[in-house]
Amino acid sequence: MAGDDSIRGLREALAQTPDNVPLRKLLAETLLGFGRADEAEQEFREALSRDRNNAELKLGLARAFEQQGKSSHAIVIVEQLIKERDTPAAAYLLHSRLLFQQGDIEFAVTEYRRAVSEDESLRDPVFAAELGVDADEKSDVVEGKVRAAWNGEDDSSSPSLSSVERPKINFGSVGGMDALKEEIRMKIIYPLQHREMFAAYGKTIGGGILMYGPPGCGKTHLARATAGEINAEFICIGINDVLDMWIGNSEKKLHELFDYARSHQPCVLFFDEVDALGASRTDMKTSASRHLVNQFLAELDGAKSSNEGVLILAATNAPWHLDPAFRRPGRFDRILFVPPPDEPARADILRLHLTGKPVETIDHGQVARKTKDFSGADMKAIVDQTVEAKLREAMKTMRPIPITTGDLVSAAASLKPSTKEWFTSARNYALYSNQGGLYDDILKYLKLK
Ligand code: ATP
Repeated sequence: MAGDDSIRGLREALAQTPDNVPLRKLLAETLLGFGRADEAEQEFREALSRDRNNAELKLGLARAFEQQGKSSHAIVIVEQLIKERDTPAAAYLLHSRLLFQQGDIEFAVTEYRRAVSEDESLRDPVFAAELGVDADEKSDVVEGKVRAAWNGEDDSSSPSLSSVERPKINFGSVGGMDALKEEIRMKIIYPLQHREMFAAYGKTIGGGILMYGPPGCGKTHLARATAGEINAEFICIGINDVLDMWIGNSEKKLHELFDYARSHQPCVLFFDEVDALGASRTDMKTSASRHLVNQFLAELDGAKSSNEGVLILAATNAPWHLDPAFRRPGRFDRILFVPPPDEPARADILRLHLTGKPVETIDHGQVARKTKDFSGADMKAIVDQTVEAKLREAMKTMRPIPITTGDLVSAAASLKPSTKEWFTSARNYALYSNQGGLYDDILKYLKLK
């Protein structure tokens, strides 16, 4: 077995002095080095029974767990370690790896940076590349996402954990949704462009629009297009990011975010999954999250600074979880249902996603008729799937083969509409907790009203 000779030697020495913790640690680390993580685990445990508070041993045990794929065990130890004093820098590196495995990339970056700033020798170019951390640290923006800087001591002129972009798309890139586009124009675009006119009619400017509806029906797409429509910056904030990542620092970060938007007008601030924030206040689990919600509401009210020029949009798939305080005037006082696209809108979306691709004359209407209940994202999936199949064919002949209506219809037949499930729960909320007719649009859509 790997490392048998050296390990045998160490075991023999240890048999003479079983209480020699440094020697046992060496054995455990050697085992770990040879990939014998289960045996290493035993030795680290043994050593820890003799020296309970040894941080290096705890870290070793966590690494042994990690190597065996027992990441939940590993994370418990590491989280405890990083709360203590004199945390070994390598603990941050391991924490970073574990977070990375869990998909918590931004936090993983934070922890990686911390490890490396404390101990240069921990730099791991391969892992850093996976995280998108550059040697010169310029890769803070990765795939359009601005990463968190460690310790929250980032440059407050740019918001963390959110993507800042200047979208190239506008309302023309959004299929259907005509009523919604008009609402957005009236409520937030025209007031921005024609302030005096609105003032003359005594219309106060401010507040945001909350969109709700089944997933994939274009809420984010429309918000992004709103920014493109007026050539504004677009900042997309996942509320779960705010809650998970900014613990302890959340209110400050939220304030910085609004401040950034106010100083970069016109700017569209888009809050995705906003219900997560609302829900946390209803649960009243922690005073920390309660504060965060209050801070969010205060920012929406523009308590200290005016939000003029900042267009606020939010989206949720679960409006019923949202704190009613969000719906007060001046906050999200316009709540819009974003239904699945109707037949003409589906044809439109198809046309948009086929733009620039090799096609025969396509009967968009025929595909639209066969795709009842498909979301915008589902329509895009039809095109993606068709393109993939065509590419595979084209690679054989090395000639582009145009997409036909038949290709699209058969791709549609192989896919399932993704909006139905959402309506199962939405229907219940609309029927049984329809405060003030809030969900009348759902009932109308389902022809229950
Ligand atoms: P979720 O609730 O899951 O966040 P969503 O309602 O925000 O979903 P989007 O992310 O905007 O949905 O839509 C997913 C993708 O589907 C978009 O990036 C876009 O490519 C396509 N899409 C959806 N609706 C439309 C539309 N009306 N016109 C053109 N493309 C659309």
